[in-house]
Amino acid sequence: MLGKAITLLESTRPDHRQLAEELLQKLMPETGHSIRIGITGSPGVGKSSFIEVFGSYIIEQGHRLAVLTVDPSSSLSGGSILGDKTRMETLAVNPFAFIRSAPAGSTLGGVARRTQEAILVCEAAGFDVVLVETLGVGQSETLVADMTDVFVLMLLPGAGDDLQGIKRGIMELADIVVVNKADGEMKNRAIRSAAEIKQSLQLIQKRLAQWDVPVEMISVLENVGIDTIWSRVCQYQRLLSDGPLKARRALQSRKWFWSEVRERLIEELETDDLLKHQTQVIEKKVSEGDLLCSIAARALVSSFINRQHSGKKYDR
Ligand code: GDP
Repeated sequence: MLGKAITLLESTRPDHRQLAEELLQKLMPETGHSIRIGITGSPGVGKSSFIEVFGSYIIEQGHRLAVLTVDPSSSLSGGSILGDKTRMETLAVNPFAFIRSAPAGSTLGGVARRTQEAILVCEAAGFDVVLVETLGVGQSETLVADMTDVFVLMLLPGAGDDLQGIKRGIMELADIVVVNKADGEMKNRAIRSAAEIKQSLQLIQKRLAQWDVPVEMISVLENVGIDTIWSRVCQYQRLLSDGPLKARRALQSRKWFWSEVRERLIEELETDDLLKHQTQVIEKKVSEGDLLCSIAARALVSSFINRQHSGKKYDR
């Protein structure tokens, strides 16, 4: 049922969309009761290995876990990097887990909407922990941070040597930093890295005043530190529940709402038959350098609004 519901909300067919929206609206009262965790890190850092072990641990603690993956590669190349591997094999067969990858070929915006809505459906289906994984490419981290409560950044030992390489913006989003592969030959490097990352975090503005972003070393391979990450997540969640959670989610909903408004407006404008000719003319002038972009945009939007006021078409 859950899989079917998510397939429905992934569909772009207008009649499916309408059904999906009806379903989501009905489910609304049943949503919001999970811990929403975002996880990011570059390919190879160990995200899927981590989620496999971390997920099983969470389920052992008595929870039901949904894992959703946002895979921007599928929107860029039409093929999925994540889909190529057999990922999270143990978790995939666990009856208390639900795993779903983003469909290939969708746009990043489309993936974001589908993931946001999938979170709601998973919550309504009784999953009390939702993990959203992103590959850490493009703008997907910001999107995922905007739909989760806790954002976990995974780094490799040695990442501290080149903190310039980690986009400052991503460090700013992190609520918990995890240095994975703190084992074998890499252990000492991991210790050094963690210290350096801790130091650099002091220069970054805090996301939540009462929270010092912890930097935890773990080894998924040796199953060390997994429980610490879970207790950090719970600690953070408790802190949020005491107040900031409501405001954070409200802000996320407002952002989501406005992004839907923007998308709807653009869609209306782009599919407006009567404006088609004018759009083409303006576009041509812009691409040939005859018209300033901002003037062109203003002209097009004015025509759109004027036509709306004249009531020629927009009574639906
Ligand atoms: P992802 O691309 O971020 O999902 O990374 P994967 O989970 O596929 O892991 C990439 C590689 O790192 C795999 O070969 C894993 O076996 C390995 N790996 C993951 N966790 C650890 C760890 O804690 N220690 C070591 N040494 N290797 C690890």
